[in-house]
Amino acid sequence: MSELYDLLIVGAGPGGLAAGIYGSRAKLKTAVVDKNAEPGGQAATTEEMENYPGFFEGSTGPGIMKKFADHAKYFGTEFIRGNVDEVDFSGPVKKVHTQQGDTFESKVVVLSPGATPRKIGVKGEAELSGQGVSYCATCDADFFVDLDVVVVGNGDAAIEEAEYLTKFAETVTVIVIHEEGNLDCNKASAEKAMKNPKLKWVWNSTVQEIAGDGLVEKVVLKNINTGELTDYPTNGVFVFIGTEPHTNFLKGKVELDDRGYLVTNDMMETNVPGVYAVGDARVKYLRQVVTAASDGAIAASAAEKYLSELQTLQNDVLDASKEKPTILAFWAPQIQESIDSIASVEKAVEEKDDAVGLVKLDTYRAKKTATQYNITEIPSIVLFKDGKDVARLEGVKNITPEAVEDLVKPYVQDLVK
Ligand SMILES: Cc1cc2nc3c(=O)[nH]c(=O)nc-3n(C[C@H](O)[C@H](O)[C@H](O)COP(=O)(O)OP(=O)(O)OC[C@H]3O[C@@H](n4cnc5c(N)ncnc54)[C@H](O)[C@@H]3O)c2cc1C
Repeated sequence: MSELYDLLIVGAGPGGLAAGIYGSRAKLKTAVVDKNAEPGGQAATTEEMENYPGFFEGSTGPGIMKKFADHAKYFGTEFIRGNVDEVDFSGPVKKVHTQQGDTFESKVVVLSPGATPRKIGVKGEAELSGQGVSYCATCDADFFVDLDVVVVGNGDAAIEEAEYLTKFAETVTVIVIHEEGNLDCNKASAEKAMKNPKLKWVWNSTVQEIAGDGLVEKVVLKNINTGELTDYPTNGVFVFIGTEPHTNFLKGKVELDDRGYLVTNDMMETNVPGVYAVGDARVKYLRQVVTAASDGAIAASAAEKYLSELQTLQNDVLDASKEKPTILAFWAPQIQESIDSIASVEKAVEEKDDAVGLVKLDTYRAKKTATQYNITEIPSIVLFKDGKDVARLEGVKNITPEAVEDLVKPYVQDLVK
């Protein structure tokens, strides 16, 4: 069993690495676990990367990802190699187990497992995978120098990778399901691609079969308007038709949508307190390095607040209430009655000559504690004794010192006895 981490991140792609940078810079004890030896995730497999802000001419995926990893290491993120196969999020301390037999414990877990390329699901695809069928241009483009390849798909990744392939292959033909001129990628990429003389286009078509004797020799194309099947000779098939989230190990542990993507709110919180999800594996509009990095930053900052809220509750309220009854007062700066009420509570507590403790909580910032104690109205005060909530005043607009006195009296007398 490992020592206890504050922040344990699963996946060292841009989402996980950004969480590592923010977490370790905030002095949280932070580690990132990845099954790969080299950090960087999918982004480190793409040579061309021109859209990460500030990095353009001459920037590469591996280059940018190395900077991310170096940055996280610089602030103290620990890098661990391991393939996570099981998690236990049932208790306040989260457990993350790897295929290698290690179990890591952490107060907070950030899930950043990314996604894997979706398969077309046609005859010949599995058999010829690695024999001409590829899902990674950076990895395989140089096997196709002066050969002919087709690209399946027309989103951002497909068009970008098709352009990249033109630097190697003799011809690159993009098979597009839509009407001529319509691509799913962004407009700037579409315009650029249409002007590339090395790119050829087959419209209104899908790949029906991939065939070859040991190596890819042709694809069978189907025209979706006429149903006509055509043999199209090619040496390679590059498939870029989206991704599937790498979340099998999370089924039943945290909320996933019906396609297996992690569901979060805009603070990257999942439905399990203390578990966050970032990057391509979560439900989101745009799956890119910049959005994964943004998710990671948000998750780590939210986690830091969560941890400090937990610490305040544990140390200043629950533990302190074992020494003397302690009031947790929920207020909010924008609610005037709560400001007045806090003054009354302070006055009443002062009169108790240190026999009662007081912790004031800005409910806007400490929503979790408010939710945990079912606080629906501000101001409210909850009295704790021996680590438990024993009495409360809720729904009273102006809490008077007398009301506080009545609330605490039985417990203070008890203490004196
Ligand atoms: C070919 C291609 C080209 C692209 N081009 C661009 C581009 O130009 N610009 C751009 O912004 N984006 C691009 N993208 C998209 C970008 O790479 C992703 O959006 C981004 O990498 C997502 O980051 P992530 O942190 O969510 O996940 P990933 O980068 O997928 O990282 C996930 C990490 O988690 C690890 N992991 C998964 N499961 C486990 C497990 N069970 N245990 C341990 N480790 C695990 C993986 O090994 C991986 O390292 C491209 C993607 C591809 C595939």
